[in-house]
Amino acid sequence: MIANPIPWPNGARCAVAFTLDMDADSLLQLSHPQRAHTLVSASSMLRYGPQVAVPRILETYRHYGIRQTFFVPGWCAERYPQAIEAMIRDGHEVSAHGYLHEHPNELSDAEERETLARSLSAIAAVSGHKSVGWRAPLYNFSHRSAQLLIDAGVEYDASLMGDDVPYLLRGSRGSLLELPSHWGMDDWPPFMHSIELDFQMPVQSAARAWETWWEEFEAMWEHGGLWIAVWHPFLSGRLARWQLTHRMIGRMLERGGVWLAPLRDIAAHARRCMQQGSWQPRIESLDDERGG
Ligand SMILES: [Zn+2]
Repeated sequence: MIANPIPWPNGARCAVAFTLDMDADSLLQLSHPQRAHTLVSASSMLRYGPQVAVPRILETYRHYGIRQTFFVPGWCAERYPQAIEAMIRDGHEVSAHGYLHEHPNELSDAEERETLARSLSAIAAVSGHKSVGWRAPLYNFSHRSAQLLIDAGVEYDASLMGDDVPYLLRGSRGSLLELPSHWGMDDWPPFMHSIELDFQMPVQSAARAWETWWEEFEAMWEHGGLWIAVWHPFLSGRLARWQLTHRMIGRMLERGGVWLAPLRDIAAHARRCMQQGSWQPRIESLDDERGG
């Protein structure tokens, strides 16, 4: 069912990555800059991410001996350095996700360039590592983003939804590997409810949410795809939800043939396959890109 399945390492059937976007209260600072400090309850919901959920998530990863990816806005890295240091100490990947969670496709050329540079340097300063990857806040990748990321030396993007396996965005000055996911793998639709952030969905049970995610997993396992969860510590790191996720990771490992890895390793593997000629990605050309 997948036209160009990629050979995963050690004959694995599929690759699995839990990516957690630690947005915390950057969301509130962005949407209500003047009165963020007065929105105490909404802020507490968001700060639950770095303060309570991240240590819990890291504990699960230690339990199973796995490494995963966190995307962090630069502002959040500066505000919650302990959370970042704990991720790095355990060998996880920390990659960039905007500075204050700005939406690149709503910025001017100069603003997008400046925001990307600020975001990358904040992550490097706090984590001690150059950001290997990037996810645009709220998937709001702009028509300029790919080329800016290529120019900045970022190796992969994880904002787009165009395939079931990695694919390549080819620009005039190089190429960017895309590690795609989609809204069905995101935790906002089942869990997010906030009047202040203008997103009110009927909150679902964790079991119901996992029904969708497990269905996706079965299909990826069957056909050799790439399963990427796009989650947030303040949503999916809540007690009942994370308790179920902890069990489901165990179930995936029991199933076997699953390569659980951070996106940086998945990107490196895909590049290796391309170099060795064991796999050809689908290529999307950025010829229609305007403004460089
Ligand atoms: Zn985000």
